[in-house]
Amino acid sequence: MKCHYCDDDAVYAAETDGIKVGLCEQHFQERVEELADDEGLEALREQTEIDRAE
Ligand SMILES: [Zn+2]
Repeated sequence: MKCHYCDDDAVYAAETDGIKVGLCEQHFQERVEELADDEGLEALREQTEIDRAE
């Protein structure tokens, strides 16, 4: 899977509103920062942990 925002290989897969997207390390960190004050961060983190465990 490729990162949703650039051509790097995705290291995380996050599902938001039913849409699954890949994120590279850099863009994952940017998303985390964007969501830092939002409940969405917790959902993103939970989903990411599930995907990385596979
Ligand atoms: Zn990226």
